[in-house]
Amino acid sequence: MGPALQCAVHHMKYGILGDIHANLNALRSVLAALDAEGVDEVVSVGDVVGYGAAPRECLHLLLERKVRIVMGNHDAAAVGLLPIDNFNPAAAFAARWTATQLSPEERSYLARLPLRLEYEHILVAHATWDAPERFDYIMSSTDAEPSLALQPRRVCFIGHTHRPLLVGRLRDEINRTFWTHDTRVDLSEWQRVLVNVGSVGQPRDDDPRAAVAVYDTESELYSLLRVAYDIEREQQRILRAGLPPILAERLALGF
Ligand code: ZN
Repeated sequence: MGPALQCAVHHMKYGILGDIHANLNALRSVLAALDAEGVDEVVSVGDVVGYGAAPRECLHLLLERKVRIVMGNHDAAAVGLLPIDNFNPAAAFAARWTATQLSPEERSYLARLPLRLEYEHILVAHATWDAPERFDYIMSSTDAEPSLALQPRRVCFIGHTHRPLLVGRLRDEINRTFWTHDTRVDLSEWQRVLVNVGSVGQPRDDDPRAAVAVYDTESELYSLLRVAYDIEREQQRILRAGLPPILAERLALGF
């Protein structure tokens, strides 16, 4: 690198993925899609484990790929950092099953995941930026306000609801909060924005394909991709593991 380059603005193409939920086929498919996109860095909004039958395989694949991860509520629950009283019966069953699968090293890795990550251009959290440890759900403009008010960068990526969504304030109207389900968005028009990238391993927006996001800081273009994967094979893995059949069935429904 010559000295001229040291002064250049540092641009990045990020791949953002989350709510993998131990779905190995879905994770492999989205990583291949990000390779095809030529991303520089992959980051995860959390919930590596829970619901699905390949928690260790998914964690190790992320570590191999040097993916940085924030802690999701299912990661916390699997290592005893979050009570499972609020989980539905299938989720609670899966959390207890996951705990029996993890090695001490894997447990301690999950237990030490940060709740927030700050990059040069972007922020990453599982549920909200302002109070990530509460794992609240951002379902409306009002829910987004506390995070938008506290974000030290314009763009914050989240997951948790398993439904893709952009919510924030536009530069030319910063007193109102807007939301959109568009999958290609010019983020330069937003003064502050929270971007929910949907779910890799258990989408709940009626589209069973795995969701994964790409954000290019040079063009400031955000794209949400949907990637087909071998759902049947993942369903068989869940049933073979003895997990509740509903966790297999819902993958085909996208809910
Ligand atoms: Zn989740």
